[in-house]
Amino acid sequence: MPERTPHISLPSERLVPRVLDISPEELESWPEDAKNLAVSVAAELFLVRSNPFINPSDVKASVEKRLSEANPKAWGEYPRTIRKAAKAFWDVFEADGRFRDNLVERLRQFMPTADVVTAPHALIACATDATDLRLELPLCMLMPETHDHIRQILRLANELEFAVIPRGGGSGLTGGAIPIPRRSVILSLAKFRKIIAIDTQALTLTAQAGVITLTAIKAAEAKGLLFTVDPASKSASSLGGNISENAGGPFAFEYGTTLDNLISYKMVEASGEIIEVRRVDHPRHKIRPDETAVFEVIDESGAVRDVVKLPGDQIRAKNWARTSPTSIWAACPACRRKAWTASLPRPASPSIPFPSIPARCASSSSAAP
Ligand SMILES: Cc1cc2nc3c(=O)[nH]c(=O)nc-3n(C[C@H](O)[C@H](O)[C@H](O)COP(=O)(O)OP(=O)(O)OC[C@H]3O[C@@H](n4cnc5c(N)ncnc54)[C@H](O)[C@@H]3O)c2cc1C
Repeated sequence: MPERTPHISLPSERLVPRVLDISPEELESWPEDAKNLAVSVAAELFLVRSNPFINPSDVKASVEKRLSEANPKAWGEYPRTIRKAAKAFWDVFEADGRFRDNLVERLRQFMPTADVVTAPHALIACATDATDLRLELPLCMLMPETHDHIRQILRLANELEFAVIPRGGGSGLTGGAIPIPRRSVILSLAKFRKIIAIDTQALTLTAQAGVITLTAIKAAEAKGLLFTVDPASKSASSLGGNISENAGGPFAFEYGTTLDNLISYKMVEASGEIIEVRRVDHPRHKIRPDETAVFEVIDESGAVRDVVKLPGDQIRAKNWARTSPTSIWAACPACRRKAWTASLPRPASPSIPFPSIPARCASSSSAAP
């Protein structure tokens, strides 16, 4: 007989605990038939959580059939334990569904209906990033068009307690854009794609956070300038993602990474407040070992709320062009939280702030023809 259990790439010792909350040690002590039943039920339930095209009612019926065909007499308590665990799964799943319905309704009170996306193909498109290590479905994907939308989303996140995961190009290699926390929404910056200004005197480019890096590079080039943030992923990555990950490419040896090139950026905090992080007296070269980069954090009233100092000899490993991630995370309020997101498998934060408007990067005159 062919195996009727769906194929899942997770090994059973991770699948069963994750879906049914039955520990690997307990499962190991079970007889083979009971273990197989647990694995097959967990595999079906796993699909509901990871594939938005699947109809949950079909899976529910299939799981019920498997359980009712099990012989509790011969297997003792095992099928009952699995049934209880499956019920707990459905309770959570259905509660999350009700939560999503209410959330979508609340979001559509201040955002256009089309910007609150629940279509399966859109959810699957942002279920992972370039790491492809883990696939999790968000409740929905949001495509705000204004800063006020972003503020309101974050305020709602605080009120209803859901996680907000900003997403640029999805090319990250840290897993930071994956909606891992339960009840996550993806906040796509895809509609923040404006290059606001290129100042050829001041040698600055001012842009929204969702601008694709290559677009910024080409825009600078058209004005005879060199935009020095050049990760190999530039045709996919966004400026917001570059800031968050402190990205850099071959130019990093000469000009440093994103941190070195930033003059200022604005971001919406978890509270909904907009702050600006501004480099004091940017010297127009990368942060050198004997220098200290100073950033001021400015609140909405214009007052300096915090000053962060980054000694150049502490932010890079010796002889490295690239700034170590911990150093930039220590520098910026947004990035401190981002470090947390990237390093923990299940951050419980209800919301994560992100720079939304506009980031200004220094550009250098092009030396190349
Ligand atoms: C083929 C390939 C080549 C690469 N080459 C390089 C390279 O040469 N150098 C390098 O440094 N990296 C490289 N990367 C990694 C990646 O492209 C960079 O880290 C890039 O900066 C990610 O940008 P993104 O817009 O795709 O971010 P995403 O993947 O969308 O997100 C990355 C993180 O940033 C956060 N984020 C995104 N936008 C915002 C925002 N507006 N506000 C707040 N947080 C935000 C997300 O929540 C997430 O935590 C490469 C990746 C790939 C797949």
